[in-house]
Amino acid sequence: MSTRGLAVEAVNPTTPGHLALKKDDVVKVLSLHTSGYYFCEKGSGTQGWVKKASLILAKSFIPTANYTAGSDDELGLTSGTRVFGFTQEEEWWFGCSQSGKQGYFPGTFVDSPEPSPAIPKSPPLPSPVPNAAASSGGRKPPPPLPKKKPPLVPPVPPASSRASTRTKPATSHFQSSNPMQELNNKATGNVAVSMPPAPAPSPAPSPAAAASPGSTRNFKGTLPLQFLLWANNMALASAVWMVIFGIFTALWSSPLHYGCEIGGVAISKVYLAPLNASATSVICNPNEEDLPDLNGDLGIGLFSIFAGIAIYAFEGFGVDDRMWGCYYPSDSFSYTNKISMRGLVYILLSFPLFSKFPSALSASFLFFTGVVCLYGVHKGEAGDNGRAARAKRKAQAAQRGGGNRAPQSGGAQAGSWSPVTYYRKLVDENKLAIYVWVFLYFFSNALTFFYTLSIWIKNVEEMRQGLLDGTLDTLCNDDTCALNRIIVTKGGISSWGPYAKACGMCLNFNCSLIVYPIVKILLRRLNNIGVSFNNNKTANPTIFAKFFASPVTRLIPLSKNVDFHKLIAKVMGAFAAGHTIFHFFNYRSASEATLTIFKKWGWGGTAFFTGALICFSMFFIFTAASDTVRRAHYEIFFSAHHWFVVYFACLLMHGPVYWKWAFVPLSLYLIERVMQERRGDRPYYVNKVEWIDPVMAIQFRPVYKQDFVFKEGQYLYLNCPYINKNEWHPFTISSASSDLATGPRIALETGEEVREVPRPAGMSKSEKWHKYCSVGKDYTKLKPSELLDKHETGYNDYVSVHIKVHGLDSKVAKSWTRKLKEYFELMNPKKTFPFYLTHRDERGDIIVGRQKGPDGQQILRVDGPHSAPAEHFANYGTVMLIGAGIGLTPCASILTSMLRYKWKKNYQPEILHFYWMVRQGDIDSFQWLIHLLTDLSHGLKSAREQKQIGPQYYCEINIYITGVKKEPVPVPALRTQENRFQGSTTKPSFLASSLYGAMLNPSESSKSQVSVQNGVGSRGAKNRIQDIWIWNGRPDWDAIFAQNKRQRQHESIGVCFCGAPVIGKDLLKNCNKHSSKEEDIVFDLMKENF
Ligand SMILES: Cc1cc2nc3c(=O)[nH]c(=O)nc-3n(C[C@H](O)[C@H](O)[C@H](O)COP(=O)(O)OP(=O)(O)OC[C@H]3O[C@@H](n4cnc5c(N)ncnc54)[C@H](O)[C@@H]3O)c2cc1C
Repeated sequence: MSTRGLAVEAVNPTTPGHLALKKDDVVKVLSLHTSGYYFCEKGSGTQGWVKKASLILAKSFIPTANYTAGSDDELGLTSGTRVFGFTQEEEWWFGCSQSGKQGYFPGTFVDSPEPSPAIPKSPPLPSPVPNAAASSGGRKPPPPLPKKKPPLVPPVPPASSRASTRTKPATSHFQSSNPMQELNNKATGNVAVSMPPAPAPSPAPSPAAAASPGSTRNFKGTLPLQFLLWANNMALASAVWMVIFGIFTALWSSPLHYGCEIGGVAISKVYLAPLNASATSVICNPNEEDLPDLNGDLGIGLFSIFAGIAIYAFEGFGVDDRMWGCYYPSDSFSYTNKISMRGLVYILLSFPLFSKFPSALSASFLFFTGVVCLYGVHKGEAGDNGRAARAKRKAQAAQRGGGNRAPQSGGAQAGSWSPVTYYRKLVDENKLAIYVWVFLYFFSNALTFFYTLSIWIKNVEEMRQGLLDGTLDTLCNDDTCALNRIIVTKGGISSWGPYAKACGMCLNFNCSLIVYPIVKILLRRLNNIGVSFNNNKTANPTIFAKFFASPVTRLIPLSKNVDFHKLIAKVMGAFAAGHTIFHFFNYRSASEATLTIFKKWGWGGTAFFTGALICFSMFFIFTAASDTVRRAHYEIFFSAHHWFVVYFACLLMHGPVYWKWAFVPLSLYLIERVMQERRGDRPYYVNKVEWIDPVMAIQFRPVYKQDFVFKEGQYLYLNCPYINKNEWHPFTISSASSDLATGPRIALETGEEVREVPRPAGMSKSEKWHKYCSVGKDYTKLKPSELLDKHETGYNDYVSVHIKVHGLDSKVAKSWTRKLKEYFELMNPKKTFPFYLTHRDERGDIIVGRQKGPDGQQILRVDGPHSAPAEHFANYGTVMLIGAGIGLTPCASILTSMLRYKWKKNYQPEILHFYWMVRQGDIDSFQWLIHLLTDLSHGLKSAREQKQIGPQYYCEINIYITGVKKEPVPVPALRTQENRFQGSTTKPSFLASSLYGAMLNPSESSKSQVSVQNGVGSRGAKNRIQDIWIWNGRPDWDAIFAQNKRQRQHESIGVCFCGAPVIGKDLLKNCNKHSSKEEDIVFDLMKENF
């Protein structure tokens, strides 16, 4: 099988025998010459030599399932039919099919890449002219070559071209003239003639070529883009504000003079001097030139506008859709010298803008952008964060109109649109509540805006009329008259004022609303009401509980809290911009009055200053809140978001009535933060740490159990003061709530789980016998002295989390999870896992669990539990639990809870389907789950035999092994001792090792799942172990949803999923497709992405 190569640059050879290629051409790579040339074939059948550096070789994949291309730039996949991938971006590969069609395909639909086939070597050539026919195994010979003898070695390209190949290894073909090579050549008698003819040096790749996927320029520095991504957002925002404030800097250079006129008409004579000076003490003098200096400047204004446009173009556009501002290959000047020219330019550009009042704010934005650029480059960040390829894919999809992959609902048929069908579709998809809330939100905003606007327009109108009629009272001593005196002498606010006011009122509303969706205590309360009601259906629910319980919980889409928070933030941003812009217009049109009134606005007349600080905080918060920045470096997002403290403090001083709006939400938030600190100070013991590369399982317990009462599916925050007192990380709880109440018995010395050893046969009953043995040991082979006495054991009540450790490849620990692992290793010098932590009590007895680390601080601080979508599983009679990767943690918690504890107490859900997708190569990382499933299965069997659970309870576990190798793989021993269930009255159906072996070598294809499970031989199917089915390949969701729909016992089925968004999309599509009002079935997706 020949592999494929992608041209990373245009190749225009002048030497015959070489292939001419366009950038992004795909060729078949037939053989490799020792001098660094591939012999290739184009789609047209033309063959020839191509320099190694001009191609990137493909990895070859076998799709495990069919994938229908969602847009023109995607490749459809057929299960079993090979595809080639050139470059990878997150879950997507850019590649080609065997026929050469290029496009993107999801990495989750293919096996791990097959080992690259060795490219056949072209043998040394007998003549000065490379005989391609000979060298490529009798393939079509290349075009005739020139009579001229080719040079000994390909000429070294000029420096400009070399720059583009700097990342190639030093052993590239340019160095094949080294002495060793020549000696070898001489020895074989092939001096100088074994080289294929050298092509004319190709022109240096254009930036566009360099920017394409698979470019030979190296876009990966020592650090990926992090601060520079933030800087890109900052620069774009600065540019926009430079244009806006530039306009005002120019406009403010010529403010409009009041001159005792309204719209060109003189105000009432009553107020005009000297006509009626005796009648009133307040006189407007049309000749008085007391126009304040607004500190505008036409030149600076224009400079700001043009610089803003240029920066936007530089940061926002680029060749091949690559943002120029983010374009940092590791061979750029900035990268090698660690100085950001871009940052320096921004700082320099900002200086002139600081000289004028309106442009000073955007100048400070730009200045800090420059500082962040300098910092990012100084740290060694380089790359493009995959933007180019993503942008290209999006643009292509948009261009060809194929980007829209919105799933069709099963309830509404395409082509039959009507309000009724649309309404049904929304109901079917459970989206109605979301739409209603969003509508209510926008409606409230519109109402607030227009109501305030109408009031202020009326005010301005009355004021103008009063000035014209002379009816404004200026003689009394109250506030109204004081304001009227200003209006008469300085003029009123302009007609821009009401718009600024309306935006301001909407800001009051939004700046208070934005806090509610992130107050966790509130969310937890609302979530808990729904869950607890359902758990106690038989009890008499209160009206309040009924309202928040399922299905009413669906009317409040609590799981969308973060989306709602983001929506409000965007609307807030728009109103803040409107408020600023309208005020600036107003200031220019009615500067005398506005300045006089503004001096009084805000707390102690600080409106200008606090307004500027509010804009400044928003600039930091908004630019760091994008998903790109958050994913690249969470700390940037986290730290920048803490500008909210300045934001709200200034807002309280800026808006005269804002405190009334903010009192409740800010108080709730403050309570939440205080409670978080208090929760974090509660004492916890860490019992056990297990390391199964790359997952670390931690078991801990609160010293006082009432400190941590949780529901399965919820998550918590962990903080390790040794690493950083302020850094909290969220993790889903992977144990069941009952594990904390009735955990297993363990050996106090080692922490290992133990079970009671049965009384030896023939031992008299009067003799005392309470002996225990580790579950992994065979007690029949142990001497009685090796068994543990009762006092050497104790109950281990625990909460567990399973943590995927990030950044294991880097030399130094940078990520928090890696630092945590290293901290535990520090406490565990033997570095053997599982590692049990113990302490001695006052009597000197060993107790499992340790509270304080070697530094004297608590090892782990815990904040939680907090609500999550999965906790609503208890609202459904039937639940599909779907997990992949570390997203399995909530599934593990729910399964343990139901199978081990709650079914014995008649809790719902009664039907549990668990779907677990795992790559064959990753199975070892999930040995903990294999042990857990074995224990749960045995417990279930035993409970059934002893009639502890009713016949209505049904559990089916489907394990899908993807990326399975063709040849059988050996089954090594499990890393930790397995439970042998000795002493159990129920015979186990299987042990963990047999499940592990079956998983490593799955026999049945997942395509036959529905037919096998519904067939007559399903009970004894070879891929079935008790309630567990093991499948080779990916799940066919369409067939699975259809089967669950056919066999349903309940009208709503909860689908809990945590894992990669690609699978989430697939599940959403199937939930929508298979939900149907007519057939009385709803699949509710409860989705979470870590
Ligand atoms: C509700 C929820 C539940 C989670 N449950 C689990 C779980 O059970 N097991 C598990 O292994 N992981 C879980 N995660 C993800 C986990 O929080 C991050 O992997 C972890 O914080 C990474 O930290 P790091 O510094 O080691 O990694 P980094 O390499 O710095 O970052 C890796 C990724 O984690 C994100 N991240 C980093 N710090 C945080 C933070 N403080 N808060 C949120 N995200 C962060 C980053 O944006 C990045 O995408 C969960 C995340 C959320 C939001």
